Amino acid sequence: MTQPITVTSPLLPPLEEFIPYLEKIWENKQLTNNGPFHQQLESALADYLGVEHLCLFNNGTMALLTALQALRITGEVITTPYSFVATSHSLMWNGLTPVFVDIDPTTCNLDPEKIEQAITPQTSAIMPVHCYGIPCEVERIQQIADMYGLKVIYDAAHAFGVKLNGESILRYGDLSILSFHATKVFNTIEGGAIICPDAKTKQRIDYLKNFGFANETTVVATGINGKMNEVQAAFGLLQLQHIDKAIQERHRVTDYYRDALRDVPGIKCFSIPEQVEWNSSYFPVLVTKEYPLSRDALYQHLKNNNILTRRYFYPLISDFSMYRSVSEKYPEANHIADNILCLPVYPQLLHNEQMTICQLINKPGKSLAIF
Ligand SMILES: *Cc1c(COP(=O)(O)O)cnc(C)c1O
Repeated sequence: MTQPITVTSPLLPPLEEFIPYLEKIWENKQLTNNGPFHQQLESALADYLGVEHLCLFNNGTMALLTALQALRITGEVITTPYSFVATSHSLMWNGLTPVFVDIDPTTCNLDPEKIEQAITPQTSAIMPVHCYGIPCEVERIQQIADMYGLKVIYDAAHAFGVKLNGESILRYGDLSILSFHATKVFNTIEGGAIICPDAKTKQRIDYLKNFGFANETTVVATGINGKMNEVQAAFGLLQLQHIDKAIQERHRVTDYYRDALRDVPGIKCFSIPEQVEWNSSYFPVLVTKEYPLSRDALYQHLKNNNILTRRYFYPLISDFSMYRSVSEKYPEANHIADNILCLPVYPQLLHNEQMTICQLINKPGKSLAIF
């Protein structure tokens, strides 16, 4: 059997281009702890993304945990049930209470109109997610935060390179976090970052990700080990040279889907607002009532044909057992979670593979309608 087509496939730079980086690391004998590649990647990424300061991490979850600690967030945090579990797990690890608020079904992002009614005297922050790299209503969220004196921390794990009105989406809120996991648009195998607006905050975060060490003998906080190593940082530097081409190829893939699926009854694509420069990080579609198969049947139909799609995000975070005590009903998020399917998107996805995927969706076949 041929290899299945997966929902994503990591961007791997040519191996021979990586060897000189490894030789350099062997030569330097510095494997981690803010080595030369780590420093280079921090400044190269800040430049590329158009942000002031960036702190690298060993993964996105550690970045989320540390962002909350850096801003001394307490009590309750308003967040979305429609995300990867790491978003709200980071709140639990900090002893905070997630307060879930329903989403806007047109963007899958936190609905600003529902935030205010969830604010209590214990609320100290809002943690929205730019789901699929589609920006949240950042201006409206900031207005609410300012009115109630709340911090805003964006889980921007999907939003590498995304711009709004020509400016990086990562500039909004008090802090934003990125994930560089192998499945993401830009990866360092495992990795992540916090984007912060000023040098003082960066310094605090740099202490926190290194156990709280401010110098050789001074520990200023109960920090953690969140450091990215030199091999990962080097991998990131090399990958950055290929990222524009990779995102271009992603656009080719998502443009094709949008075109090929436009007239398929019951398959609904999400539109990207005009002022947004997107990163084509995912291609979610809604499988509606007009489609001959249910979402799960379509998922199975594609799987039977060696195409592995993903139900991102299903189940909702609020449906996992550890969140039941704080969860309510989120009808919009529920509806999306029950009908969403993310199609394969990665730079190397071939035209004929995409054609097959779209044909399978377009003509699911009578015999398969029994699932
Ligand atoms: C991938 C992801 C994370 C976690 O990042 P890791 O680098 O895997 O720890 C957090 N939030 C969202 C929305 C993600 O998609």
